[in-house]
Amino acid sequence: MNTPIPALQRILCIGGGPAGLYFGLLMKRRFPALQVTVVERNRPFDTFGWGVVFSDQTLQNLKVADPESAQLIGDAFNHWDDIEVFYKGRSVRSGGHGFCGIGRKRLLNILQERCMALGVDLVFETDVTDDQLLAQQYNADLVIASDGLNSRIRTRYADTYQPDIDTRQCRFVWLGTRKTFDAFTFAFEKTEHGWFQAHAYKFDADTSTFIVETPDAKNSSRPTWTAIHSSATPGTCAARRTGSAFPA
Ligand SMILES: Cc1cc2nc3c(=O)[nH]c(=O)nc-3n(C[C@H](O)[C@H](O)[C@H](O)COP(=O)(O)OP(=O)(O)OC[C@H]3O[C@@H](n4cnc5c(N)ncnc54)[C@H](O)[C@@H]3O)c2cc1C
Repeated sequence: MNTPIPALQRILCIGGGPAGLYFGLLMKRRFPALQVTVVERNRPFDTFGWGVVFSDQTLQNLKVADPESAQLIGDAFNHWDDIEVFYKGRSVRSGGHGFCGIGRKRLLNILQERCMALGVDLVFETDVTDDQLLAQQYNADLVIASDGLNSRIRTRYADTYQPDIDTRQCRFVWLGTRKTFDAFTFAFEKTEHGWFQAHAYKFDADTSTFIVETPDAKNSSRPTWTAIHSSATPGTCAARRTGSAFPA
């Protein structure tokens, strides 16, 4: 089969994160006659964030979908089995969980290279403000809105999509550290302002992701973020407090 449906010839993905790139490469792999274009506002080696984690099960799914990119992702991964929880001055470690960490940037570069090898057109440094205009420009039969969590396209067509968004009551900061954690590490630390929770994992030889969360609900009985925000620089204070939960 050349295309999934006869009238479908040109696909335009708006947003070149993991979803847009992976969709693009899978479609091109399965239907080489399709013309697939991914438009991204950033440059190829620009991205936000530190490492991301996949479970062993996710890796298995990637292997089935596209063994070539799965192999490259697998080679770049840091694998571990343990989860370690720090709570009230104690730590408990359990094994056999199976996770892998990879830098978000590395993951995107692998997917970008795989797209290019398969013949997906990648267009960078294009911030899409009008999806209809761009669809016309590319003569697209199908537009994929892969523009992330705060999708401009989903917002524009909210009446049609009617998204069900469940906003939770926490602030988080996604940090990186040279401290390497050999387990998926969770820490819970009570401060004079309330609770902080951190989770951390290694994603390359010398870097770990370190995410800190704390409640920020105006109507919460423990609005930790608000309290700490008014008394100190939040990032500094969060790092100092949660850092103390871990052994040096
Ligand atoms: C702190 C944190 C940790 C996370 N950890 C994990 C994890 O460990 N494992 C995991 O699987 N997931 C994790 N996630 C979730 C993961 O990041 C998302 O599920 C994933 O990034 C979603 O991919 P996406 O392609 O849909 O969106 P995104 O990654 O947000 O990509 C959207 C892309 O669209 C582009 N874009 C947006 N608007 C436009 C526009 N108008 N024009 C052109 N381009 C545009 C953006 O630049 C971006 O490149 C984490 C998320 C956060 C915030």
